[in-house]
Amino acid sequence: MKKNRTPFFSSVHFKIALVFVLLLMISIEIIGAIFIRVLETSTIQTFEENVTNQVETLATNLSSEISKKNDSQQESNLKRILDEFSKNEILEVRLVDDKGIVMATSDPNLQGDVGKKNDYELFNSFNQKKEERTDPQTGQRVFINIEQIYSPTGDTVIGSLYVKSNIESKYQQVSEITLIFFYASMIALIFTLIIALLVSRTITKPIGEMKQQADRIANGDYSGQVEVYGKDELGQLGETFNELSYRVKETQETMDAERRRLDSVLTHMSDGVIGTDRRGNIILINDTALNLLRIGTEDVINQSILELLKLGDKYSFRDLLEVQEDVLLDFSEDFSETTLIRAEFSMIRRESGFISGLVCVLHDVTKKEKDEEERRQFVSNVSHELRTPLTSMKSYIEALLDGAWQDSEVAPQFLKVTQEETNRMIRMINDLLQLSRMDANKIELQKELVNLNELFNYVLDRFDMVIKDSDRNYVIKREFTQRAIWVDIDTDRMIQVLDNILNNAMKYSPDGGTITCRLLETHKNVVLSISDEGLGIPKQNLGRVFDRFFRVDKARSRAMGGSGLGLAISKESILAHGGNIWAESEENKGSTFFISLPYEPYEEDLWE
Ligand code: ADP
Repeated sequence: MKKNRTPFFSSVHFKIALVFVLLLMISIEIIGAIFIRVLETSTIQTFEENVTNQVETLATNLSSEISKKNDSQQESNLKRILDEFSKNEILEVRLVDDKGIVMATSDPNLQGDVGKKNDYELFNSFNQKKEERTDPQTGQRVFINIEQIYSPTGDTVIGSLYVKSNIESKYQQVSEITLIFFYASMIALIFTLIIALLVSRTITKPIGEMKQQADRIANGDYSGQVEVYGKDELGQLGETFNELSYRVKETQETMDAERRRLDSVLTHMSDGVIGTDRRGNIILINDTALNLLRIGTEDVINQSILELLKLGDKYSFRDLLEVQEDVLLDFSEDFSETTLIRAEFSMIRRESGFISGLVCVLHDVTKKEKDEEERRQFVSNVSHELRTPLTSMKSYIEALLDGAWQDSEVAPQFLKVTQEETNRMIRMINDLLQLSRMDANKIELQKELVNLNELFNYVLDRFDMVIKDSDRNYVIKREFTQRAIWVDIDTDRMIQVLDNILNNAMKYSPDGGTITCRLLETHKNVVLSISDEGLGIPKQNLGRVFDRFFRVDKARSRAMGGSGLGLAISKESILAHGGNIWAESEENKGSTFFISLPYEPYEEDLWE
């Protein structure tokens, strides 16, 4: 699974800290704004009141000084009073008489104005005035205070006082305080951020650990535990989480054990099992089913079961759910050999009644069906084989009964045919009995050590005699060394097999020809072969000539007195000896029958 780390700036950790900081910032902003506004107002107000009070006191003091007539010291006294007053924030104090002539000024640079008409425009009104304005020379804010000076009696205005004070310094004080406040706020914010990060970490750390543990569980690792940091809600959550992962682990282990058990049962089952989901797509298939259907797992998972079993034409998935009896699947064409599989279907239903899938059990019934078919074929063959001679016998006997027995010429002929047919039936019944005994393993081979070379020669000598007496011109060629080859065999049976093959070689070579007989030994086997130059056997029938009752040309074979059991008996005999028998043939050119027998050279043989 991909490990997705949350970027720091989108993490809860950062968000909690951010909320703290933002809350603090908003508080500081509001408090700061109110505080600075109040501070500024009160500072300026206090300053103005202060200056006004001082100016009023000064005006009273100056009133008596101005009233002193003919005082030579008056001018210097006024100057001294103004100078004394002009301290700290007071920038200039100017005294103007009732006619508008400057009597004195505290500003040393403006002493030239004394005795001249005052030209300060606002000053000319002589009205009491308090005003804040910007000094055009310095560009700084100044507080202008104009106070009228009354005569000591208080009835007439004898002059006026102009005071310019530096209010800018007060504003500067407020600005400095604002700046200090700003810096303090910044420091507070930084500390808050650090504390908030630390505090939020105590919340997000357990959550982060739980997330990691959840990731591990999702990846199938149940071993970890989250650390429980306290008894608070997060601590309780951590404990619950540990309990949960323990339970998941337990459940998973139980499920794994169940699955392993099921897997092992499925793997060792001799029947194929296929499981599907509720749509009919394969989710499970055991090895037996894969072998039966000759496929690999990767190919079929998620494939439709209808497609896999090639049932799409006949059934829908719903039909399979409802189908009661078994379905016989024929894969003979696909596998190019007879393959019959019986499939049983049963649906998987939950307690709620919901159908969650289908289970299909497959049995290989090829052999069973084959055996059954062979049995049916055999019964049909036997009945057929017996009916033909019996029918012909019946008609001859009927003819005899109808009066033919009196005919001294026909009667013996008819009786001869009846006798031949009876003999044929007896031969066939004997052959069948022999085969049946072989099938039941009731025949024990009377094995003895025989010189195969001698035995083969003996059989061939007999056939030479037969050929001599017949009018057909067969030649038997022997292509084998005269060296003794000692094998452990049942002589009678071996003679029966050789007779059968040699008889066939002549039976199915109507034009005569050479019958070549070979005997050769290999490392562990001795191989006999008999080749003729007869009709041959069509390729498609070559494998079937050893089957019971099989005959390439039924009519011809019957005419020759064959029952189609000779080669079947020969095959059983040779197999009972631990050997093998097979044929090679080319149509119209001839056939070769091979017999191989197990052989171990004796020491005497080697010495020879
Ligand atoms: P049958 O009694 O009919 O000869 P066999 O079992 O001996 O029965 O042989 C089975 C069939 O195999 C025969 O009917 C024949 O069609 C075929 N066959 C056997 N041997 C030869 C051969 N040498 N050449 C051609 N066909 C042969």
